[in-house]
Amino acid sequence: MDFALTEEQTAIFDMAHAFGQDNIAPYARQWEAEGTIPKELWPQVGELGFGGLYVSEEAGGAGLTRLDATLVFEALSMACPSVAAFLSIHNMCAKMLDNFASDELKARVMPDVLSLNTVLSYCLTEPGSGSDAAALKTRAEKTNEGYVLNGTKAFISGGGYSDAYVCMVRTGEDGPKGISTVYVEDGTPGLSFGALEQKMGWKSQPTAQVQFDDCKVPAGNLVGVEGDGFKYAMMGLDGGRLNIASCSLGAAQTALNMTLQYMGERKAFGKSIDQFQALQFRLADMEIELQAARTFLRQAAWKLDNKAPDATKFCAMAKKFVTETGSKVVDQCLQLHGGYGYLADYGIEKLVRDLRVHQILEGTNEIMRVITARHMLANR
Ligand SMILES: Cc1cc2nc3c(=O)[nH]c(=O)nc-3n(C[C@H](O)[C@H](O)[C@H](O)COP(=O)(O)OP(=O)(O)OC[C@H]3O[C@@H](n4cnc5c(N)ncnc54)[C@H](O)[C@@H]3O)c2cc1C
Repeated sequence: MDFALTEEQTAIFDMAHAFGQDNIAPYARQWEAEGTIPKELWPQVGELGFGGLYVSEEAGGAGLTRLDATLVFEALSMACPSVAAFLSIHNMCAKMLDNFASDELKARVMPDVLSLNTVLSYCLTEPGSGSDAAALKTRAEKTNEGYVLNGTKAFISGGGYSDAYVCMVRTGEDGPKGISTVYVEDGTPGLSFGALEQKMGWKSQPTAQVQFDDCKVPAGNLVGVEGDGFKYAMMGLDGGRLNIASCSLGAAQTALNMTLQYMGERKAFGKSIDQFQALQFRLADMEIELQAARTFLRQAAWKLDNKAPDATKFCAMAKKFVTETGSKVVDQCLQLHGGYGYLADYGIEKLVRDLRVHQILEGTNEIMRVITARHMLANR
């Protein structure tokens, strides 16, 4: 058992970290205030190979493992978890297309997906179905030319901003087996968007409903096989959960680094606050918790890479543990900054707000417990 990163993995982390510090961190608060990430950023990210992190090299991707990808998201989220998490969603979609789209669809769309000239959104949730995603109602009626879509997707990250939408829609019976995946390009007649959602965090990412009103999609835009869409959507989520957890980890590590620094500078009662043993213990607890979270996350990623039978359970457990640890750590870091932690200039309150949603999406942390318990009961 080897817990060390390889030289190549260290280089991947360093490259992503340097890119984030140079090109994202200085602008993160501005983008948050503007409510959008400049589109020009994405082709630069694409040049690093981050538009298809785990798409195979033969198919034009970076061919990284899931474990490698967690390093990229950990490193980028040290600059801004909102931007890093948005890239995770694109990569989840890119991998779904790489795995299941027809050669014709791939030839048409993948070059721009990989270069991030086409930014992708993932459309599963609906106003009436979130955790119970298989209850989705957006209908895709088959026609001679393809499909006609009617319905609404809710909470879509990149809604109205992305260039294409990977959508889970109902082509058949009720339940998971009646769901298919279709690729819907921006500008398709009948595709429209709701108003921008006002959110607690992830403010640089536009979030909106995606609406289909007799939206005609050509048959060639079906991804994979009709009726298998829910399976594809769930397969994407194991990796998505690792990435979201990595985003919590990187942001929490940044908060802890800032807090270590701050506590050496801030004085109270005639000494720097890092001299109070009660506070030193809190630093130690945060370090222990983050190291445990990192090890658990990388173990889960390793299981997914090695197709371990309990990989899904480990991805769920790690997502729950790491996102909750990350939120706890950033909240403690805010506390250790005193009143200054509450001010935007110190950069901690944004992390508290950004990380909160990681406990809700890619499956809520209650659903992570449902998955874990289900595996435990099935294997007792
Ligand atoms: C900022 C943001 C961005 C998002 N981006 C996307 C996106 O890009 N694409 C996308 O498809 N979706 C996206 N989502 C949607 C997100 O995945 C859902 O909000 C999430 O899955 C929860 O669904 P829900 O909000 O309908 O809550 P519900 O499913 O209604 O859950 C409400 C509460 O009940 C609990 N609960 C539900 N079922 C169970 C159960 N069986 N056992 C125990 N507890 C249960 C939940 O954990 C939660 O606490 C986004 C959400 C947000 C907030």
